[in-house]
Amino acid sequence: MPSIYIQTYGCQMNEADSERVLRGALALGYRAAEHPEDASVLVLNTCTVRDNAEARAYGRIGQWKALKAQDPAVRLVVMGCLAEQDRDVMPGKVPYVDAIFGTREIDAVVARLAQWRDNFVDGDDGGEDRLAALEGYGTVRHDDAHADPRWNKLRAFVTVQQGCSYYCTFCIVPMVRGRFEDRTVEAVMADLRERLDRGAREVMLVGQTVNHYHCPQTGARFADLLELVAAEERVERLTFISPHPNDFDEHTFQVMGQIGKLNQRLHLPLQSASNAVLKRMNRKYTIERYREQVALFRKYCRGWALTTDLIVGFPGESEEMFEETLAFVNEGTFQNGYTFIYSPRRGTQAAQWSDQFVDPAVAGVRLRRLAEAQDRLTRAYHRSLVGTTQRALIVGPSKKDPERYATKIGQNVTVIVPKQSLDNPWLDVRIDKAYTWGTLGTVLGTAAHAAAPARAVAHLLPPLEGGGVPDEGPVVFDTVPREAAAQPR
Ligand code: SF4
Repeated sequence: MPSIYIQTYGCQMNEADSERVLRGALALGYRAAEHPEDASVLVLNTCTVRDNAEARAYGRIGQWKALKAQDPAVRLVVMGCLAEQDRDVMPGKVPYVDAIFGTREIDAVVARLAQWRDNFVDGDDGGEDRLAALEGYGTVRHDDAHADPRWNKLRAFVTVQQGCSYYCTFCIVPMVRGRFEDRTVEAVMADLRERLDRGAREVMLVGQTVNHYHCPQTGARFADLLELVAAEERVERLTFISPHPNDFDEHTFQVMGQIGKLNQRLHLPLQSASNAVLKRMNRKYTIERYREQVALFRKYCRGWALTTDLIVGFPGESEEMFEETLAFVNEGTFQNGYTFIYSPRRGTQAAQWSDQFVDPAVAGVRLRRLAEAQDRLTRAYHRSLVGTTQRALIVGPSKKDPERYATKIGQNVTVIVPKQSLDNPWLDVRIDKAYTWGTLGTVLGTAAHAAAPARAVAHLLPPLEGGGVPDEGPVVFDTVPREAAAQPR
């Protein structure tokens, strides 16, 4: 039986595309290989968001060349944003790759797999030899080897929209993924039900500006889609990414606040709190408009966490403009934030403003200051959860230690727990220690369903070791119970 190994770089959109390819391959009779050296077809789904993403992708293709040299029957496929961007130059750079597909060619990838399927002979797949061929590279990750197959398919990405028409001046997405193209509600629901049939419990609706959704057939908007998906009984937890601050209205927040299955976390990219920078970024909102949206969100979604993305060192960003972003973060708006230094992407407008690029050393200092400010708030938020018991879903083995499980609570906070024999995917975890990246916890009970009462686990394992974080004094958020947040720890 031919087998396929897919490695995915980048965002949830790429994850969703990879899942579609994998499902197509499985339907054709391929099996999923756990390791590259076991596969008949290797697919690399690529990203272009940063320079290092490109370098990593070309590096990995180079590694896979060794597998093909060992067994010329192996097929190498590159898809995704880098394939789209480098469509003309990639065949020259990596001539041993068998097929290159752009971001809207998922069906073509599956069609090619169908063409190749019968060329693979059954029997010895040569895995040992191929493994030997990889020796010396030393960077091939075997994360999947530790995955517990029972907990592999609990979270599913469902694409609701392709592309983006907003043309933020730093972003390559409209160039490599094209303009907005929403799927019909019918297509989304069909995809959703298929994922539920395969065991999904938590569903993430994925789109570049997901809350701009507008069904081309029925006219349904994003709030309607949320209600429809949540009404599907087998969806136990629901989330979405990434919304644009401009595309929320009061009605959508109101609907979000009423859907009990929704993950209580909104990721709302701000990028900068300086109106001058926002304008140059072509973000289409001001900081005043963003504040209004946050106020509406807080009004209807009490107790939710708010997270964001921030860019420092955007071309033309002055020290004063940066200070505006720092001051906004220091207001304690966000429970978590992902901070980045601006990195020019070929083909984007901002990449042409090299005369206004910020000195890398200055940008580095800004990044450190901003990250330190947000990290302090993030730790304080995580610390406010210590001692509470939360319902969490197993998302897989911990990346750092396969002997532990990574789980996620409704606010998307990671809780690492000891790996033990568990009969259900939903856990009641007591949060014991807080860090910037997340928390450590103890499994108190398990449940078969997100809303079902937990049954106590037979053997409580001792809390995981870890240093915790120093007490930095109380920080009060309106996303956690006042009495918990107000108490210094
Ligand atoms: S909204 Fe802006 S940053 Fe987001 S995908 Fe569209 S162009 Fe890129």
